Amino acid sequence: MQNRTAVVSGASIAGLSTAYWLRRTGWDVTVIERAPAFRDGGQNVDVRGVARDVLRRMGLFDAVKAANTTETGTVLVDGRGVVTAELPSDGAGGATAELEILRGDLARTVLDALPAGVTFVYGDSVSAVDDDADGVTLTTEAGRRLRADLFVIAEGVRSRTRATVFGEDVVDQRDLDVTMVFGTIPRTDRDDDRWRWHNAVRGRQVHLRPDPYGTIRAILAYSPGDDVIGLSREETLAVVRRRYDGVGWEAPRILDALDTSPDVYIDQLQQVRMSTWHRGHVVMAGDAGWCVTPMGGGGASLALTAGYVLAAQLADPTQDQEAALAAYESWMRPLVDDVQDLPRGLMAFAYPQSRLALALRGVVDRVLTSKPLRPLAAKLTQVAETDRELPVLVGR
Ligand SMILES: Cc1cc2nc3c(=O)[nH]c(=O)nc-3n(C[C@H](O)[C@H](O)[C@H](O)COP(=O)(O)OP(=O)(O)OC[C@H]3O[C@@H](n4cnc5c(N)ncnc54)[C@H](O)[C@@H]3O)c2cc1C
Repeated sequence: MQNRTAVVSGASIAGLSTAYWLRRTGWDVTVIERAPAFRDGGQNVDVRGVARDVLRRMGLFDAVKAANTTETGTVLVDGRGVVTAELPSDGAGGATAELEILRGDLARTVLDALPAGVTFVYGDSVSAVDDDADGVTLTTEAGRRLRADLFVIAEGVRSRTRATVFGEDVVDQRDLDVTMVFGTIPRTDRDDDRWRWHNAVRGRQVHLRPDPYGTIRAILAYSPGDDVIGLSREETLAVVRRRYDGVGWEAPRILDALDTSPDVYIDQLQQVRMSTWHRGHVVMAGDAGWCVTPMGGGGASLALTAGYVLAAQLADPTQDQEAALAAYESWMRPLVDDVQDLPRGLMAFAYPQSRLALALRGVVDRVLTSKPLRPLAAKLTQVAETDRELPVLVGR
């Protein structure tokens, strides 16, 4: 019997996990990536909950642990850098999780472990999708025509192909009104191996986190955010600099260093919710289908898990492809819903605007991280948790 064929659009965590598991279960897989080459780069992500199990099944748990960012814990600091609270970071799913890794390192680890035979096309993307009774025909910007049994859209939050297949009635994009700037900056003597987090009035956060390369990963996150999509990096950084006027601690140093940082990633947080993740021979995976944003947390874990669950359902001989896609969706949806439904008041708590709100936040932080309440605080950082076993994967 001929192998089934899949085209996966996007070569990051979701796309590579999907390619890995489909290939391992006998599919012929082509990955199309819009960027001209594999994209390294990106800042801290973590692997939590059931995604840890997926990594184990890939045989990559130890490799990911070895590529750890070296972060030892998470603390909140005041404007002078004095620690005001320490978040629980013991165990697999604390604020600093057991598996903390840079996005590029995680993607590279999966890429290097791909079974032989996955075809890559870089510098191209799908421009038209023609789904029929027997399969799907894809046309690319460069004029390629690809025929497949399955087309997986794993293009991240700003996927273009999503709109080609699924209409506005299916896709709901919610702007969370948060702007985030991530960048790699030089390490100084003042830095250490903890994630240090400072909140300032008018909803401005400042974060410094260690990496395994002797540099520091800086994050500025603020709400209300700015409309920076379409702006150049210089224009965006100028907007952010104005926003951070008057913020102390390490903010001035970070702003200066971002100007020359080799690795800046800017995001305006947008949740993606879709009423269905599959139609005909097309299916969504990762941020393209359900971007949970760092506010929900666990985007990388869900993206990793999606590849496994999709391949396992498709390998189940008792169901046809349509039933497998439906089963994939029902398995993944509770995990996604769990992190997308943000608790009421979370935004005001995460991004205090006034001095009073900031002071209240400080009190809550101290209470929540006090010894009796630490187990409750630890629960807040748990994502991709489920009592369900991963579906069995036939024919590994
Ligand atoms: C370069 C980069 C840096 C990142 N840095 C951070 C970070 O610092 N912190 C953080 O929390 N998250 C970051 N993310 C997002 C994070 O990787 C995701 O939230 C999460 O891991 C889910 O991954 P994903 O594979 O669904 O989507 P993504 O990681 O966003 O990957 C989508 C992939 O699809 C490709 N693509 C997009 N459109 C097309 C198209 N039309 N055709 C073909 N390919 C396409 C993109 O180039 C990318 O490789 C980053 C993503 C990227 C791509």
